Amino acid sequence: MRAVVIGSGIGGLASALRLRKAGIDVLVIEANEFSGGKINSKWIGDYRFDMGPSIFTEPELMDELVQLFDQESFPHRKLAESCRYFYSDGFSATLPVGKNALIDVLVNNFGESPKTVYRYLERMKKNYEAVKPVFIEVSLHRIKHLVNAGLMNAIARIPQYGISSSMHSVNKSVFKNPKTVQLLDRFATYNGSSPYKSPGMLNIISHLELNKGPAMPVGGMVQITQVAFEGCKKLGVEFILGEKVNEIHSLEGKVTGVSTAKGTYDADIVVSNMDVHFTYERLMPTVKAPQKILNQEKSTSAIVFYWGIRKKVEQLGVHNILFAENYEKEFSCLFESKTMSDDPTIYIHITSKLESQDAPPDCENWFVMVNAPINEGQDWDEFVVRTRSNLIQRIQNTLQFSVEDYLEVEEYFDPRKIEETYFGKQGSIYGNSSNSAFAAFYRHPNFSKTIKGLYFAGVTVHPGGGIPLALNSAKIIERCVKEDYGLVNR
Ligand SMILES: Cc1cc2nc3c(=O)[nH]c(=O)nc-3n(C[C@H](O)[C@H](O)[C@H](O)COP(=O)(O)OP(=O)(O)OC[C@H]3O[C@@H](n4cnc5c(N)ncnc54)[C@H](O)[C@@H]3O)c2cc1C
Repeated sequence: MRAVVIGSGIGGLASALRLRKAGIDVLVIEANEFSGGKINSKWIGDYRFDMGPSIFTEPELMDELVQLFDQESFPHRKLAESCRYFYSDGFSATLPVGKNALIDVLVNNFGESPKTVYRYLERMKKNYEAVKPVFIEVSLHRIKHLVNAGLMNAIARIPQYGISSSMHSVNKSVFKNPKTVQLLDRFATYNGSSPYKSPGMLNIISHLELNKGPAMPVGGMVQITQVAFEGCKKLGVEFILGEKVNEIHSLEGKVTGVSTAKGTYDADIVVSNMDVHFTYERLMPTVKAPQKILNQEKSTSAIVFYWGIRKKVEQLGVHNILFAENYEKEFSCLFESKTMSDDPTIYIHITSKLESQDAPPDCENWFVMVNAPINEGQDWDEFVVRTRSNLIQRIQNTLQFSVEDYLEVEEYFDPRKIEETYFGKQGSIYGNSSNSAFAAFYRHPNFSKTIKGLYFAGVTVHPGGGIPLALNSAKIIERCVKEDYGLVNR
């Protein structure tokens, strides 16, 4: 049996590994000259930058993946602090990892009650653990996946999820300090959504960072896809890089292969790791597309500046947030007016704090990101110039640090470039947004209901945005393929 995987993002690589391990011959066809999709890396002068993701949680999912090719674990380190927060009024705080230390900070610095913080963290932990086996690890579209030992527990906890309230309303009802609320609201952006619209259920994202703590792959985020790529090759997965798939072929309701400008590749199974929207629009234009799913509101995009800074800035850690003064207005710009706020929340990520080889001595590699609306043909040249100037001013005001005095190298990415490079619809980073209580049910299933042998992996399909969920999409595909073709583990 032969499978073709379209795209080598982490969802595609993980699917390739899992199918190969199940005894299937696998060919991955990737449009770019490099594998890894959005998780890739670039040297600009003497500075190395991870170009896309920077926040890595649930490293155990990567451990599981590398064990498929007999590596004991995925090399990573746990971080001692999750993030440094800088507020517009000059207040700042570093959030440590570990429940007791975290409670101390939220009590002593933010003025919250220890009982409230403890209860919230426990509630998110229990909610996450209840939801995981029935929403995240299995297909929502196969009854036999859903009916498992966790189902009753997940149902019993429904009153705790806050399904009919927004994340913001839930957080505001629990905490008295608006700064705590803003900090917790921020987790909506981890899948490109708004805390004012996403259901309270999504507050479970905070559990992964606050209770479990973030990790950092040794060698940078790019190691996630690099290690998976090498593992694929070790197991005998074949790769064609720099070749774009133009069509998925099917006959009498069964997939038969794909074609590129260079040839046709027969397959019994096709896994599309590309944006599901473009899979239908560009690769199967004659197949009836699930328009209701595809027409859902998209998640945010980003403007990212990659700055090589000729100085070490001690106030900053690996992950840093400089919050907007008016958070609600920022989300209104992102999802309503589709413009750039002049006071956006700024995220600064510096891997050289941990990986000294990522920048020259006494220098730092700053990945500076602000959320941006999806590309609808706005004047991005103007947005980029204006945003850059706003960021430099804000960094000056908050950190008393003049970026331009120390800037050695610079490049940037905007929604147009994200769309062109990774073929994500309108530069959206996570596919559909989660800005509605039913969003989870409007993500595309991991398999086609009309074409046998066609599967979907990655952040634009179930279970959703982010590296852990893309890894789970591959696990779901493995299970579906094994069920559909009567395969057993090798
Ligand atoms: C700036 C930025 C910051 C982010 N931050 C985070 C973060 O901190 N944490 C996190 O978990 N996630 C983050 N994300 C989202 C993150 O990128 C995803 O979690 C994950 O990398 C997406 O993996 P994927 O499997 O969906 O595929 P992608 O990485 O989207 O890869 C899809 C692949 O398919 C290929 N392809 C598309 N069309 C074709 C075709 N026709 N033929 C052949 N190949 C094709 C593309 O070239 C690409 O390589 C961020 C993304 C960006 C851009």
